[in-house]
Amino acid sequence: MHDCSPRAIVEVDVDAIAHNLHLARQAAPGCRIIAVVKANAYGHGLEQVVRRLDAEQPAFFGVANAAEARQVQATGCSARPFLLGPNPPTERAEIAASGWGFTISSIEEADHFASLAADAQRVLPVHLAVDTGMGREGFLPTELGEVLAHLQGLPFLRVDGVMSHMPVADEDEVFSHAQVELFEQCVREVSMHAQPRYVHLAASAGILRYKVPCANTVRPGLMLYGIAPVHCTWEKQLRSALRLRAAVTLVRSLPTGHGVSYGRCFVTPHSLRVATIGIGYADGWRRHLSGRGVHALIHGQLCPLLGRVTMDQIMADVSAVPGVQSGDMAELIGPSLSVEELAMQAGTIPWDILTGLGPRLPRVSCSMGGFSRCAAV
Ligand SMILES: *Cc1c(COP(=O)(O)O)cnc(C)c1O
Repeated sequence: MHDCSPRAIVEVDVDAIAHNLHLARQAAPGCRIIAVVKANAYGHGLEQVVRRLDAEQPAFFGVANAAEARQVQATGCSARPFLLGPNPPTERAEIAASGWGFTISSIEEADHFASLAADAQRVLPVHLAVDTGMGREGFLPTELGEVLAHLQGLPFLRVDGVMSHMPVADEDEVFSHAQVELFEQCVREVSMHAQPRYVHLAASAGILRYKVPCANTVRPGLMLYGIAPVHCTWEKQLRSALRLRAAVTLVRSLPTGHGVSYGRCFVTPHSLRVATIGIGYADGWRRHLSGRGVHALIHGQLCPLLGRVTMDQIMADVSAVPGVQSGDMAELIGPSLSVEELAMQAGTIPWDILTGLGPRLPRVSCSMGGFSRCAAV
């Protein structure tokens, strides 16, 4: 047997994710949960996250497309997939046949799904999406009367939900309060014609910042993974769930005036011990992190990363850490190296850093006891 432990690895504390789901329940009391697991559960590994969260009985698992819905379903979980956005015609037959939750934003989608439902002689539950300001999906509030009238003529569609999405829940209170108000009006109008079982507006920032009295369902994504998109009372209780580590592959001394990496943007000011680490932008370690004062944690000490990020490798200054050798693990994201900080350094947002973590990184679950159980990996 060869020891083929991976060169770079994502370790996930799935119990922390379940803990964060409980916090979402506390922040939105009485609400059902659409646990958002799109984009490989924000990089945390869709399958292991769905398996753990299914025990917490969410109403749905939120996904981006039919392929992700299939991945959710393949875990054998009891909560159904819910497609969060509009669906192209090519995916609709499978969606209609599978009993997945979905939205409609146009008469065209309504008619297409109604005809698929009629073919199968089966009533399809749909969530009406309303565009209260996002500009990405949903009927305009002014169109609702006409849409509800049109739906009267489509007996194979049943309005099971009403939903909308907030574009500035994390930055504009005036707009967001007005949006909550407008959503209430829309829900009232829909409720005169139908009995929607699921009423939902808020994603993480909305859950943590706003009360939506008419809603009975929420759609947490980022907060499940332990990151608060806004400052709030729950912030301190959220538990980060992901650790990214990569192996040191080489340690050498470089003399004064020696360039490190492409472009020679970093040149050693004096002789340095330099470690090469087996991770790069092909793994999702962003090239934008080059020269931004980012550190790796090696033997418990912060070591500055040097020069440009290359496709598969980065370099760190380990002069201050004695005894570093090939095979040691360097931590790049973890309890003391936050995704929020990295996102800032890369000039992007935490969602982008997490979902960018690539398929070359194996995802390992380490429940019960957190990351310490992963130490041997
Ligand atoms: C992705 C998504 C969410 C989750 O958003 P977070 O900000 O990560 O909580 C919720 N609702 C919809 C419609 C989405 O597309």
